[in-house]
Amino acid sequence: ALGTPWALDWIRASAAVIAEHRAELITLDRDIGDGDHGENMDRGFAAVLTKLDDLPDEATPGDVLKLVATTLISTVGGASGPLFGTAYLKASGAVGSARELDSAAVVSLLGAARDGIVLRGKAEVGDKTMIDAWTPAVDAAAGAAAEGQDEAGVLAAAAEAAERGAEATEPLVARKGRASYLGERAIGHRDPGAQSTALLLRAAATTAA
Ligand code: ADP
Ligand code: MG
Ligand code: MG
Repeated sequence: ALGTPWALDWIRASAAVIAEHRAELITLDRDIGDGDHGENMDRGFAAVLTKLDDLPDEATPGDVLKLVATTLISTVGGASGPLFGTAYLKASGAVGSARELDSAAVVSLLGAARDGIVLRGKAEVGDKTMIDAWTPAVDAAAGAAAEGQDEAGVLAAAAEAAERGAEATEPLVARKGRASYLGERAIGHRDPGAQSTALLLRAAATTAA
């Protein structure tokens, strides 16, 4: 099962991978938005990193996720700040005060994150948003858990599906967010929030393996 060390590793790896892909996320958002997604996410996760050390030794995975939520909400701004903030907040609520997360808990963490984003942003699959990465990830995670895979296997399935989901936003016209102002001109470009979602879920899988 995955405990607080994994949660901390995941978030540190998230900050690293977002920093590493900052320019790529900026370019994606410049193509179909306002070009700030890489900057927004990097600022948020850099702020999270500075706060991780303040967590008490007895912090649970849910406490880690809650710290990420409140920090992203207060530092990221834009559309993605409240959306990812809500995702981590709902994920925190879903795992409660558990010290160890089994594969069912991982599925409920991911499902609650996705549901929080949908509640807040009202996007459906196919709208060319981060939901196009999150929803296939949740479905793949649930499928892997039903097959009896462990937490690492569940997260690997989620990451793989998120990467394919992000790629599948390329031919779509956007129906939510700034990219929706572009109409058909959004075709051929990958959604930045779907790409950052894939990076975050890959970090979750890598740190669990
Ligand atoms: P902003 O568009 O305010 O500049 P960001 O660039 O940080 O914010 O984030 C843009 C991303 O937010 C998009 O690529 C998309 O994935 C996501 N997004 C925007 N609106 C919604 C929504 N209503 N539901 C889900 N995701 C959304
Ligand atoms: Mg933007
Ligand atoms: Mg913006």
